Parts: sequence; structure tokens; C-alpha cells
Amino acid sequence: MRYAIVSDVHANLESLERALAAAQPSDTLVSLGDVVGYGPNPNECVAILRDRCRHAVLGNHDLAALDNFGVDSFNSVARSAIIWTQSVLDEPSRAWLNALPYELRFPDFLLVHGAPVRYFDYVLDKAAAAAAFERTDAPLVFIGHTHIAEYWTCDEEGAIGHKHMQHGGELELEAGKRYIVDVGSVGQPRDLNPDPSFVLYDSERRHVEWIRYSYAIDEVARKMHAAGLPSYLAERLALGR
Ligand code: ZN
Repeated sequence: MRYAIVSDVHANLESLERALAAAQPSDTLVSLGDVVGYGPNPNECVAILRDRCRHAVLGNHDLAALDNFGVDSFNSVARSAIIWTQSVLDEPSRAWLNALPYELRFPDFLLVHGAPVRYFDYVLDKAAAAAAFERTDAPLVFIGHTHIAEYWTCDEEGAIGHKHMQHGGELELEAGKRYIVDVGSVGQPRDLNPDPSFVLYDSERRHVEWIRYSYAIDEVARKMHAAGLPSYLAERLALGR
């Protein structure tokens, strides 16, 4: 089975369409949350993922759009984007987001938005990765949330390894190691590369590949401006941060 795993689409339709074009129709599509927030096309992105995803979990921006969860801790641009998203989100989109689980566990892997058990924690350093590995026995965990394409390993002695995938790359899963794979962000990459990121996971070959690709940033920025979203949110797309 091959999986195409996207995360943090953040209502960026142009990028989502390019990601799906780079995957195969036969790939099992997975979403790790934050389908909405920041970008100008929340309903369109939800409709695509609702139709095409086999598995999907909830992100913190999805929850914020539904019921204001955590909005007090958002910065001012994220907050104004959520208020705008709430004003345009249609009922079918709300219903689909509202039914998403916080985690999905399969025999071989776990799907969460940010981290095991504490779903909206950020795995940004070795200490956070070690804590995340301690909270699950899953051999392989797929996460998003940080908008940084990278992975973390935990060997049998508990030593933590790490590698960035700023320009894409591949990983052969080794026996005796556990992995946290951060697929990066489709809608708003933050690892200083404006090219978005998603992952192809081949479960038979035990192989993970990060795909980076370009898309029409100018068109998304134009739509964000037309919607009255904060201009900083458009500027950061071109900077990858
Ligand atoms: Zn996000």
C-alpha cells in the first residue's frame, strides 16, 4: 500500500491541487489536520479532502474554526484569519471537520496532528521528540503541525536522531528503530523553503519520501488580499517561514 500524507493545507487550494497531481490516484490519501486557517479557500480544500481522503485527523486550526478552541493563544494574524474562516466556513465543511478524530492508530503506524496523546504539542527539538516517543509504543508516527519537513528516530537505547528534509529526500525505515515523520506543510511551509511538502509512504518497501514542489504563490496571495486576510500571511508564503 502506498500512502500520500498531507498536513497543514491551511486553505491553500493551489498548493493542494499540485500536491494531489504529484501523487498517484491509487495512493491512499491521508490528512493530518489544519485543513483550514490562514488561506483563502477553506471550503474548497475541505471538499477535496472529504471526497478523497481515506484517513483524516483534526488539527488545532480546524478546532479553532469550529468552536474558538485555543484562539486566545493565537497571534493576531492567525486570530484574524480564524475569524475570517469562521465567517465563510459552510455547514458541510463544519460537519466534516467536526467529525474528525484526534488520532488514528493502525497496526504499523499512528496518525496525529502534533504529537501522540498531547495532540497539539510541537515536536521541534530532541527533548520534545524524546517525550513524544515515550508517550506511544507506535513504531512509526506521522505528524504535521510544525510546518517543518523532518524526521526523528529513537533507537533501542533511546538515543534520538534527527534530519531535516528542507529540499525533500528519502528514508529507509530500519528494524529496531522507531520514527516520528513530520510530513511538513502543504499550505504554509516554514522551513525557509517556499516549496510545500508532503510524504509518500510505501508500507511494503518501508520507504518514506518527502516531495517538495512549486505552485502559484502569486495567485494565492491575490486571493488572500481580495479576501481581506492579513498581508503578512501572503508575504510569508513566498519566504517559506
Ligand atoms: Zn498548521
